[in-house]
Amino acid sequence: MVDENIVDENTDEVEETPVETFDVNYACLRCATVVSNTELSRLPEIKCICGFRVFTKVRPPVVKTIKAV
Ligand SMILES: [Zn+2]
Repeated sequence: MVDENIVDENTDEVEETPVETFDVNYACLRCATVVSNTELSRLPEIKCICGFRVFTKVRPPVVKTIKAV
C-alpha cells in the first residue's frame, strides 16, 4: 500500500477579470457632461446629448488623505 500524500499547493494567484461594480463615469470632451457607464450602456450608441462621441474616463473620487504641499 502506497500512502499517497498529495498536497495541492497550487495556490498561484490567478488574476481574474475584475468585476466593475462601481459606477464608472465618463465626461464628454466637448460639453463636459458626465455620464455613467450604466447610462451609456443603455444607449444604442455611445454618444453624448450634444452629439459628441469622445469621452474621457472620470475616476471616482478616492477617499484618501493627501497632504497639500
Ligand atoms: Zn457632450
